[in-house]
Amino acid sequence: MHTVYLSLGTNLGNKEQNLLTAIKEIARRIGSVKAQSAFIATEPWGFDSPNTFLNAAICVETALSPMALLRETQQIERDMGRTQKSTVNSQRSTPTYHDRIIDIDILLYDDLHITTPTLTIPHPLMYERDFVLIPLKEILT
Ligand code: ADP
Ligand code: MG
Repeated sequence: MHTVYLSLGTNLGNKEQNLLTAIKEIARRIGSVKAQSAFIATEPWGFDSPNTFLNAAICVETALSPMALLRETQQIERDMGRTQKSTVNSQRSTPTYHDRIIDIDILLYDDLHITTPTLTIPHPLMYERDFVLIPLKEILT
């Protein structure tokens, strides 16, 4: 079994319900949820939107490999109705962010460090983002 920390975010619709639905799907498809942070309201990061975010972090025990974990989290995002991905703007080389029903990011996977074209662990931007770090600190053991 592997211990993974996931970051959840949403800024559309019934945000509390979106986080609860995502956590339920993660428990069903990924593994047992060992810890769950409080839900915190945060301002959009990296883009302008009138829609504030609700964020959380969870700790999950899973048998899935890192790539299988990414496939499952992305499938849950799609099943919950997320259509638009963040896209990298070639001029700025920083992503363009959009409002989203749900975003599930993989923060940590055991003590693994990997860099692939589709998956980097630890999540490269986590140390810059209070909305990730505050919930993570609450549950990190
Ligand atoms: P963001 O989370 O930055 O708003 P997306 O959710 O649209 O953007 O993800 C963009 C891409 O980031 C995904 O297609 C995925 O392949 C890649 N990615 C790289 N590392 C990770 C990670 N640790 N967790 C989740 N996605 C990741
Ligand atoms: Mg994401």
